[in-house]
Amino acid sequence: MPNQPAAGRPASHLFYQSRLRRPLASHAEGIYIWDETGRKVIDGSSGAMVVNIGHGNPRVLEAMKRQMDKVTFAYRLHFENEPAEELARRLAGLMPEGMDKVFFVSGGSEAVESCLKLARQWAVAVGQASRYKVISRFPSYHGSTLGALAVTGYDALTAPFLPMMQAMPKIKAPTAYLDRDNLSMEERGLKYADMLEEKVLAEGPESVLAFIMEPIGGASTGALTAPDSYYPRIREICDRYGILLIHDEVMSGAGRTGKYLGGDHWNCNPDLIALSKGLGAGYCPLGAMIAPSRLVQPVLDAGGFAHGYTYAGNPLACAAGLAVLDEIENHDLLGNATRVGNLLRQELEGLAERFPFIGDVRGKGLLLAAEFIADRETMAPLPKEMNAYQRVVDIAYERGLIIYSRRTRGGTEGDHFLVCPPMIITPEEIAETVGILESTLA
Ligand code: PMP
Repeated sequence: MPNQPAAGRPASHLFYQSRLRRPLASHAEGIYIWDETGRKVIDGSSGAMVVNIGHGNPRVLEAMKRQMDKVTFAYRLHFENEPAEELARRLAGLMPEGMDKVFFVSGGSEAVESCLKLARQWAVAVGQASRYKVISRFPSYHGSTLGALAVTGYDALTAPFLPMMQAMPKIKAPTAYLDRDNLSMEERGLKYADMLEEKVLAEGPESVLAFIMEPIGGASTGALTAPDSYYPRIREICDRYGILLIHDEVMSGAGRTGKYLGGDHWNCNPDLIALSKGLGAGYCPLGAMIAPSRLVQPVLDAGGFAHGYTYAGNPLACAAGLAVLDEIENHDLLGNATRVGNLLRQELEGLAERFPFIGDVRGKGLLLAAEFIADRETMAPLPKEMNAYQRVVDIAYERGLIIYSRRTRGGTEGDHFLVCPPMIITPEEIAETVGILESTLA
């Protein structure tokens, strides 16, 4: 059986999401990772779209060692630290105009949670306490803590917790590729964006605080990208009703799509940005909320931001984050993600021509996905019982490739897989990846 631990491994005290046990990771380098049995696999999903600059980067490890010799932890209420200061300065320089304040956290859920809480505290501070609803999309994934879960559109994940939280209003994600109407893609983009306005009016504009979306979707939708017309219309609607626009860039940010932010493909100007995953790139847990002074200052003036995490902005994680950023800049990894991403996309489109059960190839840079379908005309999903999303992962692993898969349409039906290798991947390694993928699909 693929993707299983070696025989004879003793019972474990660890547990994760499922009963299944996985092989032990033994070591990793570049795009490859070896398991306990000596099997070498291509990390075709960079973990969970995390290890963007590849495994075992010696310069990042060296920077971390240098920081370890100085100080690994200094509590932020007692000390500030140089790596955090410097990383905040560098990040602010990569953000849209005016996004000049950085609040560090240790992961994606924490980054999203921070955006929700800063938004709410800002509204209270500026005399708009009636605003508390955060509209999001269905399907979507924004994290596992209860606040982030309240804006997550994925029934299987949210259902058990509904009595414990206030689930927030949702609009349909812009699945324009599924529509069989006479509209152009641009018209469909506007149609989906206008659903936000309808929802705001139905909820009562004075009660709506924010709208949260991934500019390029992640695991829940399989790199879902809206028609270009969607993005400016969403901004317009948010402005019209005084609603904050939050971009969850946990998966699409930190360069994976070929620009530092996914929203940069459309020059989006969100009010808050959540980042994580590729920020620490697997070297340290690290995330950030990016905000403009105009939102932060009123909160600080009104008594402070009532929110924080113990490990936030620790010197070791920030030193790792700085070295990761150096790698992205010094080796033009954004350029490589674009170039190699285009190549991989063409290859995936070639596979879609060959295999009629691939209905859509989408994404940008190296955040790419393909969706399985039963019928090209209707775009009907494959029968759920086929478990295509799980089978493709297992077979690919057996053949030496890790890919990431999920159910597509709200977690209830449809299957897709993401191919998101590290941004250091070469054209030769893309060919190796596609070869394994092709034999897996065959
Ligand atoms: N938002 C998005 C878009 C994500 O993809 C994820 C993680 N898959 C999260 C939030 C939550 O991040 P974490 O698991 O680091 O808490």
